[in-house]
Amino acid sequence: MKPDLLQMGPMYPPTQKVLDETYTLHKLWEATDCDAFLASVADKITAVGSTGGKGIDDATMGKLPKLKVIAHFGVGVDSVDVDAVKRRGLTLTNTPDVLTEEVADLTLAILLAAIRRVPQGDRYVRDGKWLKGPMPLTASLQYGKTAGILGLGRIGKAIAKRLEAFNVKVAYQGRSKQSGVPYPYYADLLSMAKDVDILIVAAPGGPETRGIVSRQVLEALGPEGVIVNIARGSLIDETAMIEVLKSGKLGAAGLDVFDKEPKVPEELLALENVVVQPHVGSATHPTRKAMGQLVIDNLAAHFAGKPLVTPYSG
Ligand code: NAP
Repeated sequence: MKPDLLQMGPMYPPTQKVLDETYTLHKLWEATDCDAFLASVADKITAVGSTGGKGIDDATMGKLPKLKVIAHFGVGVDSVDVDAVKRRGLTLTNTPDVLTEEVADLTLAILLAAIRRVPQGDRYVRDGKWLKGPMPLTASLQYGKTAGILGLGRIGKAIAKRLEAFNVKVAYQGRSKQSGVPYPYYADLLSMAKDVDILIVAAPGGPETRGIVSRQVLEALGPEGVIVNIARGSLIDETAMIEVLKSGKLGAAGLDVFDKEPKVPEELLALENVVVQPHVGSATHPTRKAMGQLVIDNLAAHFAGKPLVTPYSG
């Protein structure tokens, strides 16, 4: 008999196919009455599969008395109530490392796109404007630029490595100074923002980091400054960001994530100095496959009574 698995939301199709074949799946996102659905499966659920878009809250965990493990698709676990996981003595797994390089690649892509106006150049050619004259010159990533990384973790370090290859100096801010890291550390985000040209946001989302990239921080980057966010929209005061980009107090933005995604404020989309992406940092077939494999392996380990492969410890 197949074990039972409660799923909060759909996963990458090839991963979903494996889960469909391996488990008796209970798909909460398809239920019309979630409470009745949960009550009908509660006594057989020891494991849940969750995603960035469909996480799990304390109340739902409370309705599953036999729950032991939450296998999350993604490295960022801000859609899961992590405090509740700890308090209830549950184990959460996520999908670290396998997406690091992919997200770092996209970070450099949107950084360069924002500075060199790559989407605008593409439109310039397609719209026939080039026939009438050259495109206006842009800002540059070169000439002694410094980038401050907020959150020098796995992804932050992979971004730093790439920045070094582009001759960009790196500084970082986090809750503590890391040993063996060659970049200058700032204990205070505002102080770092005052000293750098580019701020790259790579720290986790969640209540602790909500709005830490404040209006003051954004203004400190200055009219030539660039903000890049590949972490979570919640870290930036989005209203302030739109205002400073609009008024010219901040130079440009490259954004993969938004506070209320997939809704992106019209005012932001109207700005020429902004490059947007639909939260695709890890969205390639090989990387999503590797992330899915970790979900599959963690669930298999749970049901086999073996140690979990990637328990979340943050
Ligand atoms: P990680 O290795 O855990 O790194 C997170 C870093 O953030 C750590 O260096 C940590 O350093 C720092 N940090 C934590 N809390 C902080 C705070 N309150 N203030 C400042 N810094 C803080 O995680 P990762 O694998 O690099 O992933 C980072 C984030 O990227 C994820 O949480 C996720 O939200 C996001 N992400 C986005 C995409 C996308 O598609 N756009 C894809 C994958 C991941 P300290 O402990 O020293 O503070």
